[in-house]
Amino acid sequence: MSAFDRAAVRLLDAIWPRACEAPGCGRRADRPDSLLCSACAAALPYASGAACSKCGRTFPGQASADFVCDLCLKEKHPAFDRACHALEYIPPVDALVDIFKYRGGRWLARDLAGFLEAAVRARLPFAEADLIVPVPLHPERMRRRGYNQAAELAGILGAGLGRAVRRDVLSRSRDTGHQARLGRAERLANVKGAFKAEKPEFVRGRAVILVDDVMTTGATLGECASALKAAGAAVVWAATVAAAV
Ligand SMILES: [Zn+2]
Ligand SMILES: [Zn+2]
Repeated sequence: MSAFDRAAVRLLDAIWPRACEAPGCGRRADRPDSLLCSACAAALPYASGAACSKCGRTFPGQASADFVCDLCLKEKHPAFDRACHALEYIPPVDALVDIFKYRGGRWLARDLAGFLEAAVRARLPFAEADLIVPVPLHPERMRRRGYNQAAELAGILGAGLGRAVRRDVLSRSRDTGHQARLGRAERLANVKGAFKAEKPEFVRGRAVILVDDVMTTGATLGECASALKAAGAAVVWAATVAAAV
């Protein structure tokens, strides 16, 4: 969002206060530059506690710093080196992501990217990152939706962290459809080979933060990380707003 857009939003907020976007809330969005009220923002299911050192999924209780969860062990480790997420993908986060992606809630990117940046700062060695790469949409889907939700998040995260964002180093050769209806093994097979690194010269030897909205099985992020590694990326960290518990 440009400075002009932000100024326009502030002006609109002053004239016509916005309602909180959280489903069923109805309170006024009382935080600057946010579409969520302070009560809803505070009550979100933030990822906390012990985490897998690979996929970042959280667990109740304690774990050592190099703990690797069963899912990661079973899949012989995803290709990304480490992942983190800000929120658990449970209500109302699923509904917010749905509004953001499918129901024109593009402006929710500011809120969601804010949560994402806080998680990256807390859980990844972000100071070592060279560039930020969003998971690409298939061109046909991009044409229909008008924006790539991952690129919106990556743009705001890049500005926050002071890192370059490159939307042109990964491409998606197949539209993999809606993964939500598929089982775990099917998801892995469905995204196999769907991504390609287009400009290895920007990736070679670099530490990359790969950005998406939600990690479900990690199949998509794993395939993107494989493509980046094949192009010579030194390290790939994955960062998502939310992850399925
Ligand atoms: Zn609210
Ligand atoms: Zn794991």
